[in-house]
This record gives sequence, structure tokens and C-alpha cells, in this order.
Amino acid sequence: MTDPLHDRDTAEAALERVFRAVGPYLDALPERLVHDRSADRLLDELGGPLPEKGLGSLDSVDELLRVGTRAATHSTGPRFFHLVVGGATPAATAADWTASLLDQAGGLQISSPLAARVETVALGWLKELFGLPASYGGVITPSATLAHVTGLACARTWWGDRHGVDVAGQGLAGLPAMPVFSSGLVHPTSRKALQVLGCGRDTLRTFARDDAGRVDLPALEAALADLDGAPAVIVGNLGDVYAGECDPLDAFADLAERYGAWLHVDGAFGMFATLSPRTAHLAAGVERAHSITADGHKWLNVPYDCGFSFVRERAYQTRTFGPWGVSYLPEADGRDPDYNTLGPESSRRARALPVWATLRAYGRDGHRAMVERHLDVADHLGGLLDAEPDFELLAPPQLCIVSFRYRPEGVAEEHLDELNSRLNEAILRDGRVYVGNATYRGVRGLRCAIVNWRTTREDAELLVRVLRELTAELAGRA
Ligand SMILES: *Cc1c(COP(=O)(O)O)cnc(C)c1O
Repeated sequence: MTDPLHDRDTAEAALERVFRAVGPYLDALPERLVHDRSADRLLDELGGPLPEKGLGSLDSVDELLRVGTRAATHSTGPRFFHLVVGGATPAATAADWTASLLDQAGGLQISSPLAARVETVALGWLKELFGLPASYGGVITPSATLAHVTGLACARTWWGDRHGVDVAGQGLAGLPAMPVFSSGLVHPTSRKALQVLGCGRDTLRTFARDDAGRVDLPALEAALADLDGAPAVIVGNLGDVYAGECDPLDAFADLAERYGAWLHVDGAFGMFATLSPRTAHLAAGVERAHSITADGHKWLNVPYDCGFSFVRERAYQTRTFGPWGVSYLPEADGRDPDYNTLGPESSRRARALPVWATLRAYGRDGHRAMVERHLDVADHLGGLLDAEPDFELLAPPQLCIVSFRYRPEGVAEEHLDELNSRLNEAILRDGRVYVGNATYRGVRGLRCAIVNWRTTREDAELLVRVLRELTAELAGRA
């Protein structure tokens, strides 16, 4: 078997193999370990030299499914609390398959009016969902990191203008460093975006009043005042990964207005605080930002990969990422833009399809219900841990984040970090639940993010049972 034109297996037959795997895979998710380490040895079966003669479509898909359904991290199930990893709703998963079936080149209106229109509709719905003015520009990106690149590149264009330099055309040569200020809540991907944009990750200065990273507002203001009117960028953080902490965005927006700064907000998962009246106050002021980042593959529960950038003045997007200026790429006309002139990608997947589908399928109500369930599960987990004598919350649960540590009676403080690292290793080896390990406020602890639509209170209860079992084993061994 070599040339796909002469393969006797059709795409329909190959896709049917995937379809047949769906039921058994998803039905078993509740019982599956999050990750079965014994299946890792199967990974070797995928290697070997490049085949001269291919296996054919069906056999190769079968091989991938056989290994994949066993060796994958089953993070689409309800008990992957490590990092901040969302699941994929049924509608979003099916729409993602549709994106593969249709295989649209989603960058230009000429190559896919469908992808362009769905992206326009999906971005409009997201602005409604988040309470952002409809006048904001936007673009779907592969991730929050690339949304930071989008928003901060627009900030850089704006900042160049203030120095009389067209950065898109001329670059940064001869300009001073772009001042970027944030609180201690800033995520490393904001620095990564500055790093790839040539602004330098170390130029970002943080102003924190405590070891949780909460902003020292007077110090931030003093730094802005010190610039004597020179333009700066402020990065506000809506939901930090350690404790779900949020910067006071209204106060940041006031400073941005007073000192003529650009406000960029990282709302990778925290942007979903706007969905519930219980948490919307945390996001107050985000609608005054100049650029905003959010993720699709976290709390929206669309499949990897998907992020969003919103920019208050769309002209900065067009100037930063377009135009092409070549004869074979006509300018878009009519309602839908060429989205590849509004963000860093050129050719791109029709990522809007799953976003459209999940919002169409579940609406504002369904997504609010999911977010509120996660708030409840986080509170419930916090309550259970608080009631355990051997566990200590490192922060009150906020948004979807619960941070805690194991602190049994009689163990000296200097041994606790190592003990918590060992507990984390034991949890990952056990595999029934996945949680992360992080140093927060100077101590090593465990961290859970609850953002999967399948997760319920029972999963939090199982987590606590697993913790009790594994800590009993650790204590027995010590
Ligand atoms: C996850 C996360 C990011 C990075 O998101 P990617 O989609 O992985 O690029 C940035 N900021 C915050 C607060 C996050 O939680």
C-alpha cells in the first residue's frame, strides 16, 4: 500500500473506526485511571523506521486507536485536576471532527467563507458571554500564549506610534525598552510573549505587596508617574494559577487612563468569572482593557487547541498583522474579515467551529451552570480538606482553584515540602486522580483546577479518599 489514491480503504471506513471507538472509550472514562503508567510501554509500538510501504488507512488508524485509547492521559475525564486543563463538551468534540472532515483553510475569506463567518459569529457570542462591547476586535488563536502575543504585539504597535515609529514596518531598532508593569500574579506566558516579540521577558516589572503576589498599587502608580508621560503597558491578571487571585482591574484601568498606558488583561481561565453573578465582581473593569486574553481549551471546554484575543481598537490588529500586499491575496470585502490579517497565524484550522457549536448547544445558561458547578465543587473540596486534621488550605478556594498541603501533626516544618512532593508523586503513580505540585507563598503544596464539564462533587470526594489512603501509606512507611 502506498498511494492514498489507490488505497482500497476509504475515509469513511477509517472514520468509522474512530466512531466505533467512541462509545467504549467514553463509557469507561469514569472508571479509568487518569493515566495508566503501565500503558506507557505501548508507546514504543508507534516507533520504528519510516515505512517504505504503508499499512493502509484502516490498519494504521487501528494501531493508533489501540495505543492511543490506552496510553493517552485521560484528561477529558472528570478527575484531571493538574494544571488548568479543560475537557471537551459533546457538541464541541463533534464540531471538531466536522472541522477535520471539512478541512477548511480558515485564514482567508476567499479560501473559506464558512470559517470566516463562523469565526465572526463565535467571537460576537463570546463578547456577549463575557460582557465585552461588541465594538471590540477579536481573533481566535491556538492558545492564551498566542493571544498574549496578539494583544501585546498590538500594544507594541501603539507604543511605537507614541514614539513616532511604525514598529510593524521598521522594527524596534533605536527605541528604548517598552516598559511593562504587572502585579506578582503575572503568568510566565506574558513574559514568553514579550520574549518572542523582541520586548524582552525581563523588562516586565512586578509590584507586589505580599508573597501571594497581590498588587502594590501605590508602587505601580509611582512607577507610571516616574515615566514622565512616556507610554507603558500594564498587564492585569484575572485568575492566577496558584489561588485564582485577581488584580483589581478597575483600579488598573483608572491608572491606564490617568497615565495614558495600554492595559492588557490575562483572563486565560479567569475571564469565565464574568459568567456568574457570584464571581463577576472579580472581573469588573475588564471591559475597559485595550487587549484581553482568554482560553477556549480551559473553561469553555472546547478541544485543544483554542484561545481568544480581543482588542479594543481593531485597527491595531490590522496594522500589526496585515496586510499581505501581494497580488494573489485579495482583500476581504463584506461582513467577514480575513482573520489571518488580525492575528499571528497565516494558514489556520477552523477553530471557530467547536466554539460556535458549544455556545449553540448549551447557550449562556449551560455554560454558566457549568462554571457555577465548578465553583461549588471547588468550595466543597475546600470544605472537605479544611475538615481534615492533616490538611491545610493554602488559600481560600477562589474561582476553580484549590491549593492546599499535607501537614500532619508532629512533622517539622522543614520536612513538609519534601513530604508534599512525595505525596504528589504517589498521587500521580496511583493515577485515580491527577493534581499538581507547586510552591506557593514559600511552601510546597498541591493544586487542583476544576474546569472539566464532567467533574462533580463525587470526584472531589474521591480525591479526598485517595489523599487519605496515600497519606496513610506514606505515614506507614516513614
Ligand atoms: C493556562 C494559562 C496561560 C497560558 O495558556 P495556554 O493556552 O497554555 O497558552 C496563561 N495565563 C494563565 C493565567 C493561564 O492559566
